[in-house]
Order: sequence, then structure tokens, then C-alpha cells
Amino acid sequence: MRTIIICIVALLFSGPAAAAHHYTVHVDAALDTLRVTARFASPVQSVRARHGSAGRFLLEAADCETGLPLERRGRTLTSPQTSISCIDYVVDLRGAAAAERRNEGLDPDNVVVSPAVWLWQPRTAAESRVIVRFLLGDGVDVSVPWQTVGDIEHTYEIPPSPRSARAPAAFGRFIHVHQEPSAGMPRIALLRSPGNVDDDAIIDWILDTVGYVSLAYGRFPNPGAHVVVMPVGKNGWRSDSPVPFGRVVRDGGESIELFIDKRRPIEDFYDDWTATHEFSHLMLPFLQSSHRWISEGFAQYYQNVLLARAGRYEVQRAWQKLYEGFERGRKSRPELSANEASRRGVGAATMKIYWSGAIVALMADVELRERSGGRESLDDVLDRLQRCCLPAADRWTGPQLFGKLDSLVEEPVFMPLYQQYADKEGFPDIAPLFRRLGVDIEDGRVALHDDAELASVRDAITRSASDAGARAFIDRSRAQQAKRSEP
Ligand SMILES: [Zn+2]
Repeated sequence: MRTIIICIVALLFSGPAAAAHHYTVHVDAALDTLRVTARFASPVQSVRARHGSAGRFLLEAADCETGLPLERRGRTLTSPQTSISCIDYVVDLRGAAAAERRNEGLDPDNVVVSPAVWLWQPRTAAESRVIVRFLLGDGVDVSVPWQTVGDIEHTYEIPPSPRSARAPAAFGRFIHVHQEPSAGMPRIALLRSPGNVDDDAIIDWILDTVGYVSLAYGRFPNPGAHVVVMPVGKNGWRSDSPVPFGRVVRDGGESIELFIDKRRPIEDFYDDWTATHEFSHLMLPFLQSSHRWISEGFAQYYQNVLLARAGRYEVQRAWQKLYEGFERGRKSRPELSANEASRRGVGAATMKIYWSGAIVALMADVELRERSGGRESLDDVLDRLQRCCLPAADRWTGPQLFGKLDSLVEEPVFMPLYQQYADKEGFPDIAPLFRRLGVDIEDGRVALHDDAELASVRDAITRSASDAGARAFIDRSRAQQAKRSEP
């Protein structure tokens, strides 16, 4: 077996026809440095790093054929020779980690540093394949959002992807849950931090949340995703939430960063919606920022619906939360349309952005269910979207997404809603739809009535998972807990 692996590695790293840039990254056991050798698919004029601070952490860099040092200007490296086929360089990993605030709360034997700081690439990298192989010091593990290459240990290809921020990469001794990609579950890296914590419970909570999101259409939207869970230090985010901050990062694949307050009891995590919200984002492609009300809104809608289906929220509570959210959206910046509110630089419009999209998601879901007599729902359409188009390699516009969704159903639903609401100031009137769904509001409290015209549609939206496939998925994700690797 070992011989075969070595042969494949040799093929990957010296194969004559492979039009790829090949990186070998040595990570030392102390996590002090990354020693990198990069061989390019063809000679290049220069290489650069994406992060402005990368030059500060570059300890040395040389042309590996001539041995001559490379010249650095800012974050660009050039050779005194005209072109470069191969470079050796050393990055101060420890220094780069110290410059990233997220490492403050972590044990020093694990760090998170973005490839934007340590991966020096030719400008042509976007057109060529980039393959990165890690050679790890004793006890060191690595977790990156990239695709694994065959069975070759710690070897990845950077997939084409839009860029929303800088991807995280974890190095060191952390808890790493990963299985065959066919298992359909994302990889999880739980970073270690000082103090007592029940790591098993945190991993179970993540796996359960993966299961909740699978209740939309029976599987996780991107099994190749990378979940990085980082405990915050005591001077960390000022927040009452057990998950003070979470986000999806699209950059060479999809990462979900979750910052957690480990001082909180595990029940608080189960009562928090952040992870469900972030995972729900993976059901849509990355949208350009002026249409982010759609991505935020769909995630907002689904976090409530899915937590009800999973039994974490009482059904009444889910509708209460939707009602209160719509009210906050209605009161937020009524002079703006959803598209205007989403534009960069427009402040104080968060509620407008999130809940404008959520109400459109609800309207689309109800229309699909009503007109099909319950045979079709938003879940089904997003299932088809995942099969055809996700994870997407590029950034989409709102109309592009809604046009695509309409192409997946018999009669358009989405573009008509976009045309009606996207550029209209104010907020859609929820009252008529709530009345038909049997969602009555009395003194700000939601009361559900089963004699309403669309009460069965309302029930179906939050029905607890009877879908055997999804339940099995949750059970399987829990079973993975037994297979995790530990430092
Ligand atoms: Zn979001």
C-alpha cells in the first residue's frame, strides 16, 4: 500500500503532464515555521501573497534552481533572473498566528493562520490547478477547506471558488473529525484552549446541527465543507451568546468559522441558532453583496424552520420568532428597498436585510406548497439547486439565482417575487399570508389556528422530521463521534 501511495505522490509531484502548481509544506512540530517548496506548472514572472501582512512573516525566499534570494516588494516576490520555476521559502507561522486575534483564546500547540498569509502564488494560479501536500511534524495535524486528493495523506487541491474572506487553516494538536467524503459530512476542526471543556459535547452539538440542516433535503448541502470551531479567550468577543460570532468563508472551498464561549453549558449551544444559520447558508451559492438580503434571509428562514423540525424549537416558538423578525424588518429603514439596504456603506439596515429575504423565502415556500398540493416545497427546489450547481465556483447575482430556481420548477415563483419586492421600499405586508396560514397575532403573541385555509401548509413547513433518511443522517453523524482523531 505504501509503495502505491509513494508512486501516486511521485506522479502528482513530478508527473510530466500535470498542469498544476505543486506545493510541499513542512510544518514543524513546534509550529514555529512553515518551510515551503513550490514548483510551478510553467515559469512565472512573480509570486504574491494575498494578505497585506504576508511580507512581515516571510523569513526567507529563494529561487530553488539558482539558490538566489528572491526580491520582495510589498507582497510580491520576483527573481533577479527573468522567470521562476521553483521557489523555497520559510514563513514565521508563530508570528503570523500571534497577529491573528482568533489565536488569543487558543492553546499554543494549535494555531489558525490563513493561507492568504503563507501561500505565495503566481498570478496565474487562478487558471492552474494548485496542489498542496503537507509534511507534518510529530503529532501535528492540519485542517484546510480544500479537496483531498485521492487517498494521499494530507494532500489537497484548492478548488475553484468565489472569495468572501480569507479561509482559515488549522495546524497543530486539535480535535479533528473527518471521514470519507462519501459519508456526506463536513470536516470539523475543534481547536483546543485552556480550561475545562467537554470537547465531546461540543462535537456532538456540531454533528447534531449538521443533522438539523440535513432536514431540508436529506443531506448536508456541502459535504466538502470545513467547520473550524475556535474557543474565544476571556477577553474575546463581547457577547451574551455561546457562539459570539459565526460566518461562512468562501475561499478555496467553503469554511464555516464558529467562535464559541466554552464557559457556557452545552444546553446553551443547543438553544443557539448561529451554527444552524451558518450551515443553512451553504444551501445557496455566494451572492454579490447588493443581493445579500437573499442569502441572509433564506438562512434566517431556515434556521427557524429547521430548529422546529429538529424539535429544538416548539412550533409556536418558531412562528413567534418569524413574526418578531418580520416586525423588526418592517420597522428597519422603511424608506429603503431590500436591494438598497444591502448596498455597501448603508448602515443600520441589518434587520431590513435579514428579514426581507426571510419573508420572500416564506412566500416562495408557501406558494410552492399551495399550488402543488404539498408535493413541492422550497426544500425540493434547493435540493435540485444543490444537485445542479453547488458548491458554485463563482459569485452569483440575486436575479441569476432566482432565475435558476425558477428553471427548476414548472411555473416561475422566484423572479416574480424579486420583481415585486427587491427594489420596492417598505416591507411586504405579512398579515394576509399569516391569516391564511392560521398564524394569528394577539397582543404580540402568536397563536396557531388549525381551521385556517393553509393550516396544513403551515404544519408541513415545521413538521418534525419523519423523513427516515434525514433521521438516519443525524444518527450517522453522531456515530462519527466515535471515529474522531485526537491529538
Ligand atoms: Zn448569515
